[in-house]
Amino acid sequence: MSSSTSTINNNRPIEYTITCSDATGQQEKFIFHQHTAPVSICQQFNPSSLNQTKIQVVSLMSGLVKAHTKEVLQARTWYCVECNQPATTIIHNPMSYLHLSKPQVIDLASPCCASKICDKSIQAHFAEIMSEVGVPNGFP
Ligand SMILES: [Zn+2]
Repeated sequence: MSSSTSTINNNRPIEYTITCSDATGQQEKFIFHQHTAPVSICQQFNPSSLNQTKIQVVSLMSGLVKAHTKEVLQARTWYCVECNQPATTIIHNPMSYLHLSKPQVIDLASPCCASKICDKSIQAHFAEIMSEVGVPNGFP
């Protein structure tokens, strides 16, 4: 950790964990260590800078999701959590724990079939969980 190597993009390594579980009880955990996040968002949020930080965190998380959806989907035959048909996509629900001493993103993922109805229903279910535990938009 030398300050002589500091650049405009001062990044910290993060851990990205996807836990994917489906209708048949299959569950698999994927852990990735190759990602980094700007130091500026790896801290407790200052309420006055929350919006700006939030945009950065959401953008980081959507990049993580995109980078690994295919890998998770192809790891095995998953079944849609709503209707039990073979899944064609994975719906992610990443949560930021970037403020911890070991910055991480925890992602609870659900396989989904091609049906828009199932897609909507899974998204709504995640939104419900988030509001119940008081975690709007993936922020602990
Ligand atoms: Zn379905």
